[in-house]
Amino acid sequence: MKLVLLGPPGAGKGTQASNIVKKYQIPHISTGDIFRKNIKENTELGLKAKEYMDKGLLVPDDIVVAIVKDRLIQDDCKKGFLLDGFPRTDAQAKALDTELQNLEFNLDYVINIEVDKDALINRAIGRRICKECGATYHVEFNPPSATEICDECGNELYQRKDDTEATVKTRIEVYLEQTKPLIDYYNKQNILVNINGLQDIDKVFSDITDVLGSEK
Ligand SMILES: [Zn+2]
Repeated sequence: MKLVLLGPPGAGKGTQASNIVKKYQIPHISTGDIFRKNIKENTELGLKAKEYMDKGLLVPDDIVVAIVKDRLIQDDCKKGFLLDGFPRTDAQAKALDTELQNLEFNLDYVINIEVDKDALINRAIGRRICKECGATYHVEFNPPSATEICDECGNELYQRKDDTEATVKTRIEVYLEQTKPLIDYYNKQNILVNINGLQDIDKVFSDITDVLGSEK
């Protein structure tokens, strides 16, 4: 099972990624993780990537693709993988296709968790976190018993700085604008599967397995 997982920030992609890799016994390839690993181990690619990141610049696609390819050629990816956090643009998707062809791999599905923009904004701006123990709440969907107080430890709750309406809106708009051509690209290949991310977590996962089937 060779998969790509897409979804805007706050759509519950992390939870679904761990469910999928557990059920289908495939490695979870998170680009964030492999980047950190390459940088920590001072690999040639890691050092190159770091040069850009230190300057606050985006790492160019050829380096990102090389880092992903480096991971895909490892033995555990032969039976499948779940790519998470990559590709982010249609240019990256095309570059990935070229690498996959060289490896004689085909993507089976691209799972796109869809959540409407306003719902994502609501989810993010209602989020509250405990200063002390890190427990998370939501003012609407999972409120603490006492306003702004943690049920677990009785300490004060706070809202993350980047969870304000303006920041969240920008974050989501940038994501949607950037991924639209990418989603079109996979749609044309007939491997795109849209999943309604506004449902209960278990229902989202069962919709995914309905498409992927029960085989490993
Ligand atoms: Zn607490």
